[in-house]
Amino acid sequence: MDKEMSNWEAVIGLEVHVQLATKSKIFSGASTLFGSPPNTQACNIDLGMPGVLPVLNKEVLKMAIKFGLAINASINSPTQFARKNYFYPDLPKGYQISQLDSPIVEGGFLQIEIEGERLKKIGITRAHLEEDAGKSLHEEFENHSGIDLNRAGTALVEIVTEPDFRTPADVRLFLGELKQTVEYIGASNCNMEEGDLRVDANVSVRRSGSSRLGNKTEIKNVNSFSGVERALSLEISRQIATLDAGSAVGQQTLLWDDHREELRKMRSKEESHDYRYFPEPDLSPVRVTQ
Ligand code: ADP
Ligand code: MG
Repeated sequence: MDKEMSNWEAVIGLEVHVQLATKSKIFSGASTLFGSPPNTQACNIDLGMPGVLPVLNKEVLKMAIKFGLAINASINSPTQFARKNYFYPDLPKGYQISQLDSPIVEGGFLQIEIEGERLKKIGITRAHLEEDAGKSLHEEFENHSGIDLNRAGTALVEIVTEPDFRTPADVRLFLGELKQTVEYIGASNCNMEEGDLRVDANVSVRRSGSSRLGNKTEIKNVNSFSGVERALSLEISRQIATLDAGSAVGQQTLLWDDHREELRKMRSKEESHDYRYFPEPDLSPVRVTQ
């Protein structure tokens, strides 16, 4: 294959979970303090026990609105919560309260400065509120997994970008800008070690000059900015090699292993979830005044 034919361009979009710095959880008064003994900080509401009712934490809403204003977005009013159904050992209640239609924040952007001169706009499609799940611990136990539900019900904002990135370096610049913005408005401590900022990166490759999007893969579980950059570079090379060899890129989810510097296949598109979203019956839509 001649050189002209192997002229590829990467396309990247991010989904970033930011843990909000509230003292109590998104729908309950339980503490969010990090590092407490396992399973001491999830109350009946966080665990979704029968008969309990969630109440939205006002601080969470304020932080999300501040974030929306900081990224030049629209604030939806009313904004509405939705129930996303799935079971996982660290989500024993069987659903997560999230947002689908009318997320609190919609249609904003952040700018990054490329090579110290050109400004590039990165579109932010939406940012919605949701509760976090607990944590599965695989390392401390032999032949078992531990479940710590302390994190259940912690407030998250999930930020979804447009597929506006063309290089892993741009992604890193954006993450720096995003972190600075969120820290400045006091919405999160952005402590990477404590998982305050978690990045999933979607990536595809297409012929330079083409406007069609290629098949994407999703890289999950990356908890450092340099990890995101390295994982993306590796995956872009793999996709280019696949396409150069005349094969197609399969839609799949990949897990980044930071110690081994490698990507492992987690699931293919056929195994993807159907979450059966429906409007959250326990929370009324929220009207935001000017
Ligand atoms: P899905 O329904 O598979 O989750 P979404 O349309 O919700 O996909 O997009 C999720 C993220 O993936 C967004 O950040 C978006 O910008 C990005 N994205 C979507 N399509 C592509 C693509 N072909 N290549 C790279 N990124 C993409
Ligand atoms: Mg998605």
